[in-house]
Amino acid sequence: MSHQSWAEPFKIKMVEPLRMTTRAEREAAIAEAGFNTFLLRSTDVYIDLLTDSGTGAMSDRQWAGLMLGDESYAGSVNYYHLEDAVREYFGYKHVIPTHQGRGAEHLLSQVCINPGDMVPGNMYFTTTKFHQQLAGGQFVDVIVDEAHDPENEYPFKGNVDPEKLQAVIDEHGSGRIAYLSLETNVNMAGGQPCSMANIRCVSQLCHEQGIPVYLDATRAVENCYFIKQREPGYADRSLREILLEMCDFTDGCTVSGKKDCLVNIGGFLAVNDDKLAAQARNLCVAFEGLHTYGGLAGRDLEAMAIGLVESLDENHMRARIGQVHYLGQKLIDAGIPIVKPIGGHGVFINAERFLPHIPREHFPAQALTAALYVDSGVRTMERGAVSVGRDPKTGENIYPNLELVRLTIPQRVYTQAHMDVVAESVSAVHLQRDSISGLRFTYEPELLRFFQARFESVIEKRVPTRSPETALSSSSSEK
Ligand SMILES: *Cc1c(COP(=O)(O)O)cnc(C)c1O
Repeated sequence: MSHQSWAEPFKIKMVEPLRMTTRAEREAAIAEAGFNTFLLRSTDVYIDLLTDSGTGAMSDRQWAGLMLGDESYAGSVNYYHLEDAVREYFGYKHVIPTHQGRGAEHLLSQVCINPGDMVPGNMYFTTTKFHQQLAGGQFVDVIVDEAHDPENEYPFKGNVDPEKLQAVIDEHGSGRIAYLSLETNVNMAGGQPCSMANIRCVSQLCHEQGIPVYLDATRAVENCYFIKQREPGYADRSLREILLEMCDFTDGCTVSGKKDCLVNIGGFLAVNDDKLAAQARNLCVAFEGLHTYGGLAGRDLEAMAIGLVESLDENHMRARIGQVHYLGQKLIDAGIPIVKPIGGHGVFINAERFLPHIPREHFPAQALTAALYVDSGVRTMERGAVSVGRDPKTGENIYPNLELVRLTIPQRVYTQAHMDVVAESVSAVHLQRDSISGLRFTYEPELLRFFQARFESVIEKRVPTRSPETALSSSSSEK
């Protein structure tokens, strides 16, 4: 296609009406939710940028696929469709469906990690690290330094630093390295890609020392798009070719189908090794379901097999990332500090710079998510100290370099006008930023605390106010 705009290669066949709320209603809702956007009711949310996980819109073909669900307990035809698709487009030999990405991470971690093993990876992902630790492994971050600097415009901030990786291997011995956990389009770094050169280099480095490499291929197609855009030699290669080449360097992958595969639920583990596949299938039977359904209905397997192919359409990915960049550029133009380059699945606001008056121990990113919600009903997610949690040894809060608010764009769901509303709201809150106060825990769960934690304001004053004439909607009761 020769048109210049990123416009979508689809039209809208069905709509889902949204409830518009008043500011007073939103203030009550966020207080009731303990200032945690995860605890809001979705009916109180206008534009939901909490996550793109399972929140995308399926195509008419995927919906039609649901009607072709073969709900046989064993050997469903839909399982074989998924197996064919993964073999064809990822190139791995064995495919084990799971209820979602963390199910695949659980199986891989339990099979590959012995207690005391090290698991180097390019930054962490919450559920990935959790399952590695649950299996007795210790995650160690070997991502390039550029990834920890939100201002650095390096085009491949997802890359592994080969020297850091080798240092971990030298310190512990290759026998104590379970595998390299290589995430594509690194979520916590702001949706930042790895280059093919880096994947090739670190995979060789690992394989020479007998260490397997497993991709978190949840966002592999977005990563392929960036390789095509930015890496010399790939401009004329198709996303399909790039994905196959990437997978070819590695030994298998875990995937959450809820992102690039465009489904509301599902995931899979894919590996080349026969023995490992047999062990994982065994665990699958215990934790997920029979190895041909892995906790999913046949219809879900079908929708995932179709979505996987749709994700590799060049115009689809161009519009997906084009929309994210449209929002990101609007925020840059408005002077909002965001992570650069703009990522693949969302825009990440640097909350430390947005709210410099709030100390890290009062969780500026968490406070900003609450303020944005109150302003406009836009729901975002904290990706900073609350998400990282405490040091398992010392029990102290860890303060990562990145204290971010993630505005994640669900695929094929919102329009350009919705993006405009989001940008207007972020700008309005930015003008009022001095009135936002920090938060402290009133309830702190032990595991993956960000999901269910509750907070209160550190001062009695509540979340910020915005003058009624600029607010999206305001109630007559506000001051
Ligand atoms: C979402 C996600 C996961 C976890 O997948 P779920 O389907 O939510 O269990 C793992 N890794 C990455 C990079 C993800 O984005």
